[in-house]
Amino acid sequence: MIMPGRAICVKILLFLGSCQIGREGLASAPELREQPKKMAIVGGGIGGSAAAYFLRQEFGAGVKIDVFEAGTVGGRLATHDIGGGEFEVGGSIIHPLNLHMKHFVDRLGLQPRDDVTSKMAIFDGKELSFEESNWFIINFLRMLWRYGLNFIRMHMWVESVLDKFMRIYQYQQYGYSFSSVDRLLHAMGGDSFLALANQTLEEVMLAEGFSQSFLNDIVAPVTRVNYGQSVRIHGFVGAVALAGASSGLWAVDGGNKRVCTGLLSHSKAQVISARVTAITFKNRHSKNGPYEVNYMDQSGPAHSVYDIVIVASPLHQGMSDITFTGFSPPIPSHFPGRYHQTVSTLVHGRLNVSYLGSSENPADFRFSDVLTTDHKGLGIHSLSSLDPVSIPKGYVPPPASEKKVWKVFSPQPLAEELLKQMFLEWDDVSESRWLAYPSYSTPHRRTPPFVLHDHLYYLNAIEWSASAMEMSAISARNLALLAHNRWHGQEAKINQEDLHTRLRGEL
Ligand SMILES: Cc1cc2nc3c(=O)[nH]c(=O)nc-3n(C[C@H](O)[C@H](O)[C@H](O)COP(=O)(O)OP(=O)(O)OC[C@H]3O[C@@H](n4cnc5c(N)ncnc54)[C@H](O)[C@@H]3O)c2cc1C
Repeated sequence: MIMPGRAICVKILLFLGSCQIGREGLASAPELREQPKKMAIVGGGIGGSAAAYFLRQEFGAGVKIDVFEAGTVGGRLATHDIGGGEFEVGGSIIHPLNLHMKHFVDRLGLQPRDDVTSKMAIFDGKELSFEESNWFIINFLRMLWRYGLNFIRMHMWVESVLDKFMRIYQYQQYGYSFSSVDRLLHAMGGDSFLALANQTLEEVMLAEGFSQSFLNDIVAPVTRVNYGQSVRIHGFVGAVALAGASSGLWAVDGGNKRVCTGLLSHSKAQVISARVTAITFKNRHSKNGPYEVNYMDQSGPAHSVYDIVIVASPLHQGMSDITFTGFSPPIPSHFPGRYHQTVSTLVHGRLNVSYLGSSENPADFRFSDVLTTDHKGLGIHSLSSLDPVSIPKGYVPPPASEKKVWKVFSPQPLAEELLKQMFLEWDDVSESRWLAYPSYSTPHRRTPPFVLHDHLYYLNAIEWSASAMEMSAISARNLALLAHNRWHGQEAKINQEDLHTRLRGEL
């Protein structure tokens, strides 16, 4: 898909323009209550670190912010060293209209990674059923020949969803927040966004007139590579997946996780290497804050009290195990629904191009991203040639005839037998098993709440609309604003309807 450069620029200008006038112009209101003294964030992934950044922005320098991290800062943004280089193994690509990620990178003095040209093919279990050409016109004609206007219409459909999606940046710039994921979706796209989230992508696209063969051949490979799932994911996350197949995708030079460490240090948050075991509601009028956070660090169990707490880790089986006590109604440790396993295997080896049904000389095989159709028994979702997190000067990706680093996404760990079919030889293999993103195959209606209690919030509820770095950042900003608005009783800044029309006059 091609994202018109001009449209991007106009949207970014609108966003930057509203940055100048938004918060000063409309959002600030006289503060009625003393600022909170201490806040805790559970989780140091992009969600938790963005929350620290935005909480500091909302509440100022006086508040103490503690971030608890049980594993490694970055969470699902992680890199691995293999074949003499460092490579992304978790969240890797960022859309050109992800304005929070863009802002973070600018603000922290980081750089986007240098661009390396890529070429995509689709493997149907026997052969490459689609091969991208270097020539736009050839791709265009091939698509037109096989699928009529489906391809252009898909581009327009994704653009129309994105147009509405972009409204959130303006709302946030003006200080508006939403107390549930559904209200946030509704503010962006009205009933149409809720309808999207309650139907499968397949249902939505068939109803829009897309053909079943286009869905099977082109759309399913995209949902498989981006979410490890079929076109039966819901329509909203499906649109996000399709946007993730646009041109202009980027990554952070040196690794995406640098944004997390950068945000934590910029926000002057204290990172506590500890696993949070329980959050207890003590007393609304307690002098030092009503929430007691119990944690386990290297020296054993400890606790601390806070005025505001944001949980920035999925509250789901296998992701975290936090007990909530003293709350009425009770808060569960795990919400319904499960996270989907994606195994990310890095192989430093020589590809067997004939596994892909290609008779091409490996030296001429130039596809960097091989997506797959929903073919029973295939065992993989995608195969990509990886470039390091920092691109050396004069870098040219090695051809497939040489040993290089490949990333395979699969639902299960790769069996030795499959590895032998895919690679002629290898000298290193590294496997990361992720509970990567929610399992979206069931209807969407089970979204957990943002607000768990008066001043206790849940950032990863947003993942049930779509999981992506930018979604966590949007949720982080929403919760920082919501926490601020609720703390100071600024009800007029919460859950406002029809903001799009009302704010149009302000620009
Ligand atoms: C393989 C893979 C590929 C992906 N590809 C992309 C992509 O290309 N583009 C994109 O935008 N997104 C992608 N994503 C999704 C993206 O990575 C996530 O949506 C995002 O990183 C989630 O960030 P988070 O901070 O909300 O959660 P996490 O990154 O999961 O952070 C939660 C943190 O909380 C910590 N924690 C958990 N329990 C506790 C506890 N009790 N006490 C203290 N700490 C705790 C964890 O250790 C973790 O560090 C991908 C994800 C995976 C796994």
